[in-house]
Amino acid sequence: MQDAPQVGELTPPNRTLMGPGPSDVNPRVLRAMSTPLVGHLDPSFIEIMNEVQDLLRYTFRTDNKWTIPVSGTGSAAMEAAIGNVVEPGDTMLVPTNGYFGGRMAEMARRAGGEVVEVDAPWGEPLSPSAVADAFDEHQPDVFGFVHAETSTGVRQPNVSELTGIAHEHDALVVADSVTSIGGVELRVDEWGIDVAYAGPQKCLSCPPGASPLTLNDDAMDKVLSREEPARSWYLDLSLLEGYWGDERAYHHTAPITNVYALREALRLVAEEGIASRWKRHERMAGALKAGVKAMGMEMNAPDEYWLPSLNAVRVPAGVDDGTVISRLLDEYDLEIAGGLGDLSGEIFRIGCMGHSARPKNVTYLVNALGSVLA
Ligand code: PLP
Repeated sequence: MQDAPQVGELTPPNRTLMGPGPSDVNPRVLRAMSTPLVGHLDPSFIEIMNEVQDLLRYTFRTDNKWTIPVSGTGSAAMEAAIGNVVEPGDTMLVPTNGYFGGRMAEMARRAGGEVVEVDAPWGEPLSPSAVADAFDEHQPDVFGFVHAETSTGVRQPNVSELTGIAHEHDALVVADSVTSIGGVELRVDEWGIDVAYAGPQKCLSCPPGASPLTLNDDAMDKVLSREEPARSWYLDLSLLEGYWGDERAYHHTAPITNVYALREALRLVAEEGIASRWKRHERMAGALKAGVKAMGMEMNAPDEYWLPSLNAVRVPAGVDDGTVISRLLDEYDLEIAGGLGDLSGEIFRIGCMGHSARPKNVTYLVNALGSVLA
């Protein structure tokens, strides 16, 4: 057997996080995470669970009873959504215009569903007419779309139009709001979204670990009347109902500290006011956009579907994106990212999320990028 490893005290670098997530964590959230642990069934924790659910409803703009933090990262909330709503033999319509539509497809297949696609190029949103055509052709039971595509910096406009088409065909709508929640206008009830999942580490500026999910009654009726149980025991919403519903009975040990963190992050949203927070993101990312444009660079997405929380900036001709990204990290302790998939090497992905969406970060980013490109 090897000797005990000699591992020093943890001293991670102090980065400024302006990539596709995680974003800089608000110090209040870090403080909440260092408060004492209580049991996951302690009466005080039950009260915290109620508060988190209320705060999540406010942030999602929904009255859905079924609004919870899923234990795990955004992909856990995503799999809880898709793995419960898609039954074996169902057809799910997914988009091809970014990385996360592909992940939806993979999860739907694993849930026993058949996958059909609605096409749009990477870097563009879905058009309502393409969605309507796909519905006419395939009659899907579930339609998934990505409200804020982190891989391309595209905000899906016309959401109510898309959900309207789905509902005319009696399909449920699942929205990926990982990179929009708390940063970009998102109105679950008003826009007719049946299921939305999200992540805490983007515009909520909270470490990953407890991920928002909301389902309306139509979606929950389907989940609770499934012929066979969801394939994942851990993410089976009919079982999780026992813990997050009225009973508050043990299912698994909730990640207490992550729930504390999410509570504080959501308290910050409520204090600021959701609409003011959306405006702040637009203002700060607008300044970032003006800064990069002033340096002669171009945004990949036009203003109609620009995503303030994730700015896709075209890599200037003759510039190696990897070198710029490494130099920003090494010389400025500043994280941004490159493009993925069809946009690999073509764009920088610069986040402007939550606590990172403030003048200090934006000015630092524009200065550092300008110096590295000079
Ligand atoms: N969906 C989108 C749009 C994302 O940006 C991400 C993560 O970046 C995910 C889903 C998956 O979330 P996680 O990486 O927290 O599992």
